[in-house]
Amino acid sequence: MNQPEDSAAARLRQLNQYFLQHPVTGPSEGRTPTRATAAAPLSLATLDHVQASIAEVVEHARAANPDAGPAPSRADAIYDWARQHTEHADETAQQRAAVIEYRQYLEHAIRAGDWRKAIRPQRCPECRTFGLMWQASMQRALCTNTECVDRDGMSTTVTLARLAHEHVTTRKNLRQARTT
Ligand SMILES: [Zn+2]
Repeated sequence: MNQPEDSAAARLRQLNQYFLQHPVTGPSEGRTPTRATAAAPLSLATLDHVQASIAEVVEHARAANPDAGPAPSRADAIYDWARQHTEHADETAQQRAAVIEYRQYLEHAIRAGDWRKAIRPQRCPECRTFGLMWQASMQRALCTNTECVDRDGMSTTVTLARLAHEHVTTRKNLRQARTT
């Protein structure tokens, strides 16, 4: 389990806070980073990220429960809201919601420049060892185990979606193993 201070909600709150502290000020500021307005495009990208994350959670919750009603206005309340409104959904929808939330936790942490804290505790899904490193250019985690390569000798790379899926299903299996 995540500590409460390091969860998707806490991370989203931080990013949102960042955006509020670095607002986009003028209509002339575009989305292309320039030296003069370096802070603005970063804020815009962060805002886009926050909004896209919220939209994804809301969309999934509404698909699982069309009666979910209006989403909360506070960004970081979105995960609790989604959990509440999908608690009677089928297991697949609930698991999907958990995977989305955990993947977003990883995405938020990476966006905040904190990939080590998010990625390092994850095992490589292929070789089960630790030592994953975030590769921004690929938007994937790279396994640093030199034996963990494909047929062409290329290192294993893993998407955040896969890491999140592994995390959620491993946790579920552990829970089941304890109760049987
Ligand atoms: Zn590996």
